[in-house]
Amino acid sequence: MALHDAGHAVTVFEAGHTPGGRAQRLSAHAGFGAPLDNGQHILLGAYSATLALMRRLHRNPAEHLWRLPLTLATPNGSFHLRAPRLPAPLHTAAALLGARGLSWAERLAAVRLVRSLQRRAWRPDAATVTDLMREHRQPDALVQRLWRPLCLAALNTTTDAASAALFCAVLRDTLDAPREASDLLLPRTDLSALWPDAAAALCDMRYGHPVRQLAVRPDAVDVDDETFDAVVLAVPPPRAARLLAPLPDASALQHTLDAFSFLPIGTFTLRLARPLAHWPAPMVMLQDDPAQGRHGQWLFDRTRLLGLRSADPEITVVVSDATALAALPRGEAAQALTAQLRAEVHLPEVLASKLVIDKHATFAAVPGLARPDVRTPWPRLVLAGDWTDTGYPGVLEGAVRSGQAAAQALVQSFAQG
Ligand SMILES: Cc1cc2nc3c(=O)[nH]c(=O)nc-3n(C[C@H](O)[C@H](O)[C@H](O)COP(=O)(O)OP(=O)(O)OC[C@H]3O[C@@H](n4cnc5c(N)ncnc54)[C@H](O)[C@@H]3O)c2cc1C
Repeated sequence: MALHDAGHAVTVFEAGHTPGGRAQRLSAHAGFGAPLDNGQHILLGAYSATLALMRRLHRNPAEHLWRLPLTLATPNGSFHLRAPRLPAPLHTAAALLGARGLSWAERLAAVRLVRSLQRRAWRPDAATVTDLMREHRQPDALVQRLWRPLCLAALNTTTDAASAALFCAVLRDTLDAPREASDLLLPRTDLSALWPDAAAALCDMRYGHPVRQLAVRPDAVDVDDETFDAVVLAVPPPRAARLLAPLPDASALQHTLDAFSFLPIGTFTLRLARPLAHWPAPMVMLQDDPAQGRHGQWLFDRTRLLGLRSADPEITVVVSDATALAALPRGEAAQALTAQLRAEVHLPEVLASKLVIDKHATFAAVPGLARPDVRTPWPRLVLAGDWTDTGYPGVLEGAVRSGQAAAQALVQSFAQG
């Protein structure tokens, strides 16, 4: 988009057939009232670059995203935390102190953690989120109720493995920022319609064309058998490593790319005979415990979000770091999720269901992971992707910022001749 706006003609080689990459609409959706996505996505009010990109593409965020104050609530109301419409930072303290389902000691411990991290400019000494919790003496019940679900949702990595630095970066930009930054933004359209379709309309899209070969020259790059002034390589790290391998001086970058590992996310969509009885919010927390076969973490009201007919209600369950779920045969995994729903909500008859598991949903956000800059040893070839050094975990905002940084690097390279 930034390159298009700078006056360049942009050609996109896309291995798939739909715009959006990991955040795309799936083609098969028989039995459902609206297209299914590769996975339910949550955006945050803090996603400033993403929201600006949508506006630039005339996709009004207020129309296409459901904005609600940060709300974490179990279906039965045993836990309920909501950031009130108060000026920052009062909204964070009020949300934590007013949380139902936490003892006073737990609420105060949560406030103490936020205060202490604020004082350190959100730069923790701890390596993992579990280390951070221990260092700040966060009670187990508080970790289970609040920090663990937030960590899984934000980093797609369990607290034992997740980078405390990346977790704190997300907390900083949502809790220690203007109140709107902590809002949850839930898509009201399929993910390709959110903005990728509009971006694709401005480019020469070559769908179904997996790039197989790159060759760099001082002032051009060959993509398979075509020559371009410059290239943004915006594919996942393993694919980038393979494409870069034959280039001169590629070994250091390849070493960095080889260090990434990936974790799955599962999305289970159901069509029901009747609506669910009680929704405290369009997105509610489930009580997961993978060791006990309860994998579902969040439940979304697809009917309300997508404006479907209330006579044909649909719901979506999300499973982050779905390693245990992905190891089960697909039918068994779907049965386990349905059984969990039966235990936690009064589940009406299920008319249709579809479980999608993206096995490489995001990179594992572990401590010490070296993430490459968008610049490479070759001035006319830059990298882009949520896995570059964005300071964010593998999320949409990171991908958008990375793309913008890549475009800026190329514009500079052109200016330098
Ligand atoms: C199930 C799921 C749930 C998620 N939930 C959230 C969420 O709630 N909030 C959030 O912010 N983020 C979420 N994410 C992460 C978010 O989707 C990603 O951060 C974002 O889409 C990454 O964009 P990208 O451009 O970096 O990479 P991708 O979207 O992976 O784009 C890479 C593209 O390269 C193409 N490609 C690969 N190889 C080649 C080749 N050789 N030639 C040509 N094309 C090629 C691929 O087809 C793909 O279109 C989720 C991801 C998944 C999978």
